[in-house]
Amino acid sequence: MVVLKFGGTSVADRAAMLRLVQIVRATPNPQVVVVSALGGATDRLLGIAAQAGAGDADGAAVSVQQLADRHFEVAGVITDSALRAEVEGFLTREFDQLRRIVDALSVLREVSPRWLDAIAAAGEVCSSRIVAAALTSEGVGATWVDARRVMVTTDAFTAAPPLMEETTRQAQAHILPVVQAGRVPVIGGFVGATTLGVTTTLGRGGSDYSAAICGACLDASEIQIWTDVDGMLTADPRLVPGARLVPQLSFAEASELSYFGAKVLHPSTILPAVDKNIPVRILNARNAGAQGTMITASRPRTGQPLTAFASKRRVTVIDIASTRMLMAHGFLHRLFGVFEKHATSVDVVTTSEVSVSVTVDDVRRLPAVMADLSAFADVTREDDMAVLCAVGEGIAGDTTVLGRLLQALGPVPIRMLSQAAERRNITLVIPDTELPAALARVHEAFFS
Ligand code: ADP
Ligand code: ASP
Ligand code: MG
Repeated sequence: MVVLKFGGTSVADRAAMLRLVQIVRATPNPQVVVVSALGGATDRLLGIAAQAGAGDADGAAVSVQQLADRHFEVAGVITDSALRAEVEGFLTREFDQLRRIVDALSVLREVSPRWLDAIAAAGEVCSSRIVAAALTSEGVGATWVDARRVMVTTDAFTAAPPLMEETTRQAQAHILPVVQAGRVPVIGGFVGATTLGVTTTLGRGGSDYSAAICGACLDASEIQIWTDVDGMLTADPRLVPGARLVPQLSFAEASELSYFGAKVLHPSTILPAVDKNIPVRILNARNAGAQGTMITASRPRTGQPLTAFASKRRVTVIDIASTRMLMAHGFLHRLFGVFEKHATSVDVVTTSEVSVSVTVDDVRRLPAVMADLSAFADVTREDDMAVLCAVGEGIAGDTTVLGRLLQALGPVPIRMLSQAAERRNITLVIPDTELPAALARVHEAFFS
């Protein structure tokens, strides 16, 4: 069984939907299709939630109507009139419900994470329903499966981790029978529900993760991530237009790249695949014949020390200095305990005898973190920094990489520098304004 996941741009409009139909038609069953919201829809839904939170009921109502109109327009791709009418009825009910939720929240002027998820989930719920009908209408028998009945998560709203045992049971109960009947199950990504049935989401970009979870629960032979680029590229193509395709990646390399900013893959996607050793392939829905990127447990050696660069913009560096750190036990424990207490994850860490620097990209709870740290250390923050990460299985065996990297980087102030035990990456933190030019230079040095 193959799991095919289509991202937002791959279901953005009628033309994209028809490309999806061709791809699914060309894939032999058994297969499972996981889809994102229509491109940009999640951003719009979160914008609507923000309008409601600000008490702007009229503005929110206009935005809901615009989003509804767009879904009805895209649903026009369903040529079978009975199927289209069914989907239009579904969309009418979904958007009516959204309107009522948004109205109520506008009165309360408060949107809790729970209601934020209820609103955000509408994107995938609607897109998956349209895709299932579009496939059937084009002669590819498909059945919509409600993700809220399959993906069981904790109640950590807005970034809820899956409960794998429960989800496996639900996937076998609701997806497998569809497959066994020779049809293609279509399920929305990103969305889940608690054991009590309350709607949750897996976090931004989480449809990739949904696909990998489905793949693991159903023992798939491959997970395909269909997107708008040819695969994992040697750098973010928005920053380095000449970035090249990486045909093969190891799971570990893919994890590092996605974790440090290669948006083409959600950072958690690889976890379920690693557990079950399922290959993940990244493919371009606009260029379906291209080879894409194949991600497996290990990959053949290439002779290249570096595989790709990843970058994360606008991160914050926090410097934590303790005069008492000299010979003090337990300082790091106490320090990381503060980050854990405020559920704020740190990405890059460097230490010296008396100070520790960390980067974070989610700064929502930073004031509380800094207040707690101040109880036992001097703390300062610096915003507008960027992480530049060189990744490659070949780094460990090549003593020249770091020297070449620093030489290509030129006179850029390096705020932090780290290389971890596995020696699969070299990570630098530099000012965000320097990132585009710096990335272009190091990319040129290693991939020209
Ligand atoms: P989808 O909607 O299909 O999930 P995303 O926008 O989440 O697509 O991810 C695809 C985008 O990731 C690409 O359009 C590209 O701009 C960006 N990206 C960033 N880094 C990389 C990289 N190293 N390789 C490929 N794409 C990357
Ligand atoms: N639609 C969700 C988002 O935009 C999930 C995804 O596309 O992967 O974050
Ligand atoms: Mg994505």
